Amino acid sequence: MALADRDAAAVADRRTFAIISHPDAGKTTLTEKLLYFGGAIHLAGEVKARGQNRRARSDWMKIEQQRGISVTSSVMTFERDGITFNLLDTPGHEDFSEDTYRTLTAVDSAVMVIDAAKGIEPQTRKLFEVCRIRNVPIITFVNKVDREGKEPFALLDEIADVLALDVAPMSWPVGMGGTFKGIYDLRRNRLFQRAPDATGAYEGGKANLSGLDDPRLEELVTPEIAAHVRDEAELAMAGYAAFDAAAYRHGDLTPVYFGSALKDFGVEQLIDALAEFAPPPREQPATPRVVEPGDPAVSGFIFKVQANMNPQHRDRVAFMRLCSGRFRRGMKLTQVQTGKTIAVHSPIFFFAQSRELADEAFPGDIIGIPNHGALRVGDTLTEGEQIRFTGLPSFAPEILRRVKLGDPTKTKQLRNALNDLAEEGVTQVFRPMIGSNWIVGVVGQLQLEVLISRIGAEYNVDAGFEPSPWETARWIAADDEAKLKAFIEEKRSAIAEDRDGAPVFMAKDAWELNYISQRHADIRFTATKERH
Ligand code: GDP
Repeated sequence: MALADRDAAAVADRRTFAIISHPDAGKTTLTEKLLYFGGAIHLAGEVKARGQNRRARSDWMKIEQQRGISVTSSVMTFERDGITFNLLDTPGHEDFSEDTYRTLTAVDSAVMVIDAAKGIEPQTRKLFEVCRIRNVPIITFVNKVDREGKEPFALLDEIADVLALDVAPMSWPVGMGGTFKGIYDLRRNRLFQRAPDATGAYEGGKANLSGLDDPRLEELVTPEIAAHVRDEAELAMAGYAAFDAAAYRHGDLTPVYFGSALKDFGVEQLIDALAEFAPPPREQPATPRVVEPGDPAVSGFIFKVQANMNPQHRDRVAFMRLCSGRFRRGMKLTQVQTGKTIAVHSPIFFFAQSRELADEAFPGDIIGIPNHGALRVGDTLTEGEQIRFTGLPSFAPEILRRVKLGDPTKTKQLRNALNDLAEEGVTQVFRPMIGSNWIVGVVGQLQLEVLISRIGAEYNVDAGFEPSPWETARWIAADDEAKLKAFIEEKRSAIAEDRDGAPVFMAKDAWELNYISQRHADIRFTATKERH
C-alpha cells in the first residue's frame, strides 16, 4: 500500500468521540464497559480503581471523591475490529463547562447518555447545545433500562421535542425494570437476552431472527412478551424516522440505542454503531483556510493543558488534537502564536491503564506533549504554515475574587500557582491596574474550592479568597485606539489585564455592565476571547 493510502486508511479507521451526560446517568459505568468490550481493560471496575489510586495522590482530588464528580478529563484509546477509538472524557459538572466545551472541540462525534428514568436533564441539554453549535453528530444511549423508567415512546418523544432532533430507534428494550428481558436489535433482528461473558460469548443468550414475526420469538421469550415487543417495535418503526446516515452526520437525526451499561446490555451495539456510522476525523475550522485530515503537513491544536500529572516532576502535559498529516516522534513543530519551534521528543498516547510513547499518530489522535509551560490552550502547531485553528474561546468569568495570601513571603509561589492553574483553564487570573492583589475569575463556585485546595496541595501556599467589588468582567476593544485608551483612563479602578495583557473591564453587576456599555458605544465588550 502506498504511504498516502495507508495514511488515508488510518484516518478512515479512527473515531474520536466524547460521552456527554448529566451526572449520575452512567457515563463512568459506560466508559468502563466500552473499554472492557474494546479489550482495553480486563476487569470491570478498573476505571474506578485506577481513578481512586490517582486521586489518593493529591489532596485536591479529594473534592472529586467527596462530591462524586470528575473534574479532570483524559483520553482513553482502544481498538476493536481494526477501528481505533479515541474516547475523550469530559467533566460532567456544570462548573467545568469551559473545559468540557474545549474538549468537545476536539471530537468528531459524541455519545449522549440518558437515564431512562430521568430523560433529558439540564446538563445533557447544555452539552447537547455545544455539540449542535459545532455540528457534532450524536448517538443516543438510553441507559438503565434494567430499572423502572419512562416508557420508550415517551423517551423518544422527549428527545425529539426537547432537542428538536429526528430520532431513529435502532433497538428496543424487551420489557423494562422488573420485566426487563433483553434488547431487540431492530436493524439486524437479533435478540440479546443475556449479557456476554468475559470472552464476549453470549452462551446462547443471543439469537439471530428472520424478523419481528419470526415464530422463534415466542419460544425465546413468552408469547405475551413476544406479542408486546412486536406491537411496540412495529409502532416505533412506523412512527419514527428511519435511520439516515447523512442526516445523522449532519446533526439532524440521532440513532437511539437502549441498554444497561451496568448489566452489559447494548454496549457492544453502541461500539458497532460508532464504528459503522460515526464520522472519521473531520475538517477543522481555521483561518485563513479550513484544514482537511488528508492535508499532507502536520497540524493540530492544544485543547487542554494539565499541570502536575506527576506531582514529583511538576510536569505539564498539553493535549493536542492532530488535525492533518502523519505525526512522527521527534518532529519539529512551530507554535504559530509565538513563532517558536518545538521538537516533540516524547509525545504520549493514553490508554486505559498506561501511557506509551507515540512513534506516529494520525489525524483524530490525541497526543500528550510534556512541556514546561510553553504550550497553552488554543495554540496551533504546524510544520510552519501560518494557520490558526478557531473556536477555542475563553469565557468571561461569572465569579471574581481577590486572592488573599496567608504568608506574604510566598508571593512568587502564588503567582506560579495561579499561572499554572490558569493555563489549565481551572481559573483565569487578572492583574488590576490599581492595587496589588490578583483577581481570579471562575465560571462556577466549585472551581474556587478546587483552586484553593490545589494551591495548598501542589504549591504549598496557604491562600484564601476575599470578595471583590466586581461580579463580572468583559474583554474590551475598540477600532479607535485613542478611545480605548481614554476609556481605560476613565475607568482605571475597574480595569485589569488578563494573562496575555489584554484589557478587561470589571463590573459590579450586570446592570452596571449594561449601563456602561450603552454609554460607550465605541467600545466593544466581549464575553469570549479567542487566542490569536
Ligand atoms: P456518572 O455520574 O454519569 O459517571 O454515573 P455512574 O456511571 O457513576 O453511575 C451512577 C450510578 O448509576 C451508579 O450507582 C451506577 O452503578 C448506576 N448505573 C449506571 N448504569 C446503570 C445501569 O445500566 N443500570 C442500573 N440499574 N444502574 C446503573
